[in-house]
Amino acid sequence: MLKIINQVEGLDVYSMLKDTGSIMEGHFKLTSGYHSNYYLQCARLLQYPDTALKLARRALDIVKKDIDTGSIDAVVSPAIGGILWGYMLAYASGCRMIFTERKTDRMELRRGFEMDPGSKVIIAEDVITTGGSVKEVIEICRENKADVKAVISIVDRSEKPEFEYPYYYLIKLEIEKYEPSACRLCRENQPLVYPGSKKK
Ligand SMILES: [Zn+2]
Repeated sequence: MLKIINQVEGLDVYSMLKDTGSIMEGHFKLTSGYHSNYYLQCARLLQYPDTALKLARRALDIVKKDIDTGSIDAVVSPAIGGILWGYMLAYASGCRMIFTERKTDRMELRRGFEMDPGSKVIIAEDVITTGGSVKEVIEICRENKADVKAVISIVDRSEKPEFEYPYYYLIKLEIEKYEPSACRLCRENQPLVYPGSKKK
């Protein structure tokens, strides 16, 4: 029902998620429209800066093997989920952090945030499921001619991430999901919860 692949040697990321209440059990309608009996809310873990910083440092240790993280100019995150994680990664790598947000349907860089042409950036998101928000951030980076070096998430729960850039995550969770018409929890009349921001 729940398959876990931990990428971080010597650090039990699953327990950190579980202990902070970031993995919830119930009957959830996911952004994708599927139903599931697990829901992830990484903001619960990110309440604790010391824990988040520990994870950010470990993530950079992994990324450092391939990329000169000292040369990164900025971490860019999609609001809201990616902000705290991106901020910690920026703090740990000594660069600035900016975020994109959705005022309308379109993701934008607002608040006077800028990316210089050729600047080296890392894209950060807390959980990657469909990868849709990250793809929109990639597009904004391209429009600004920034050089995307990596995408980093805490949790990967995608089936197959399709970014054209190196993608790193700390833990992969394969959570079983159901078509609404074939949902065991629906058949048991368990109340359905819509935890995400986008109802479909
Ligand atoms: Zn259901």
